[in-house]
Amino acid sequence: MVRSRPLARRSKTIHFFHDVNWRYRTLTAKAAEDSRFLGLSSLFAALLLSAPLTVFAEPLPLTQEHWFEARTAHFNIYSSGPTQEVARVGGRLEQFREAYSVLAGAQAVASPPIVVMAFPTHAGLEPFLPLYQGKPANLAAFFHRGSDENLIALCLSGRGAESLDSVFHEYTHLLLRHNDLFWPLWLNEGMAEIYSTFETTGEHAVRIGKPLEHYVRLLKGRSLMPLHDLFAVTHHSPEYNERDRQGIFYAESWLLTHYLMLGDNPVLKPRFGQLTALLRQGQLPEQAFTNAFRITLPGMETLLRRYLEAGRFEALKLTVTADLSAPRSLVTRSISPVETCFRLGDLLLRVDRLDTARAYFEQGEKIAPKSPLPFEGFGLLASEQKRPAEAVQQLQTALQHGSASFLAHYGYAREKLRLTAESDNYTRIEGPEAAVIRQELQKSLALMPSFGPAHHLLGFFLLIQGDDLTDAEKELQRAIQLEPENLGYLFSLAQVQIRKNQPDAARKTLEPLRLPYADARLKAHAEEMMKEIGALKR
Ligand SMILES: [Zn+2]
Repeated sequence: MVRSRPLARRSKTIHFFHDVNWRYRTLTAKAAEDSRFLGLSSLFAALLLSAPLTVFAEPLPLTQEHWFEARTAHFNIYSSGPTQEVARVGGRLEQFREAYSVLAGAQAVASPPIVVMAFPTHAGLEPFLPLYQGKPANLAAFFHRGSDENLIALCLSGRGAESLDSVFHEYTHLLLRHNDLFWPLWLNEGMAEIYSTFETTGEHAVRIGKPLEHYVRLLKGRSLMPLHDLFAVTHHSPEYNERDRQGIFYAESWLLTHYLMLGDNPVLKPRFGQLTALLRQGQLPEQAFTNAFRITLPGMETLLRRYLEAGRFEALKLTVTADLSAPRSLVTRSISPVETCFRLGDLLLRVDRLDTARAYFEQGEKIAPKSPLPFEGFGLLASEQKRPAEAVQQLQTALQHGSASFLAHYGYAREKLRLTAESDNYTRIEGPEAAVIRQELQKSLALMPSFGPAHHLLGFFLLIQGDDLTDAEKELQRAIQLEPENLGYLFSLAQVQIRKNQPDAARKTLEPLRLPYADARLKAHAEEMMKEIGALKR
């Protein structure tokens, strides 16, 4: 009898698999619909060709104004605008979240608090907009999704202020992120558009799925895109442009989703639920679609054309038990000028305007050299620029100055750990460093228990150390539960299971990575690991 050798002895280094989501960020929003502004903004672009963007006369914009923080249950809003306006925006975001959780379950809306930067006017927002082809993008509001922080920027008055549709659209993407892996793009976008029209209509009544007239206009009088082609659109297709959701792809995705979810066909509606289940199992989009609805694609195209021509689009009215008009707790506090600098710099950092971000952190340091915030900013910036040694030094200063930010503790541990690796390969860390990394991750989690990336990193760290694989597994399972869409976590878990001499469990963990919807690069990693498991078992 040949006993299989303990697998742990075989592997000396452990690989950190950077998931596509590791620094996952999307930056998306809807372009303003005012065509006059479009003209102006191209004129602005022409002027910019000869003028550098980051030259500001001191002081930097908006740092002289009085800013405050308003906390609702799930959003941290920073603003220098009128309190009632801020309360109104906070109330609408909470209502949206609440209505969504009633529909999809409380787990579906779990995420660390979302930071909202509410500028009094559009002119105030402009210097903080992401650059698109070198000029400020033509946006009224945007949602920035990141693995460590989610952020909304909007203005309280003027152009586009009334409508939060683009914010609701992107927030829906965040809430639906657990389906990101296997939902085809048309369904993701169609759903985000259905929810983008969210409104409350009474104390306990909400409405979603109001018809989007500009899509109806666009689709009428032209032939629809064949569904075969619609289903084939991906993030890399020319039809896809999240920055200005225009064109037939968005219109038809909306129409199809509206028909299946809210349309007048009593046979199809109940079958809609099966679509997700079949996709999750790994059926290809077209196959899952025809199996769920038991109809051919040309058959569906005929029904869809009829639905469009009939023009009777019903919105979905829902009753929620919570009183949506009830006053919400809004805790406000003034924030200091250094915190204002940090918040504005952090926003710029996340839209990749790094030089201007630094200018805000520097101004903060000048105002309040003992505050942890400027150093937190410098640390996050260095981390963004892949300079781990500098990030560690700056974040360490922030912590020494008393930072109580879960991101600072997490960032410090992450960069410290990163410094010990050689091209993503990690080995056991000896000495006091190890204790510091572990403590910092635990502090981050004490401050923010639902923070998936810190659970993952702690689990990965425990795996490297190898002393406590049971705890490593627990942390990784928690991370996967919080962010099932982050397939990189599965690699870490599989490596723990290999170390625990459980090759079958490791195989099972890697299984989802072999499904058709998994990213090709991750699939290749998974196959490689499966082979290694096979070789070790022999
Ligand atoms: Zn979208």
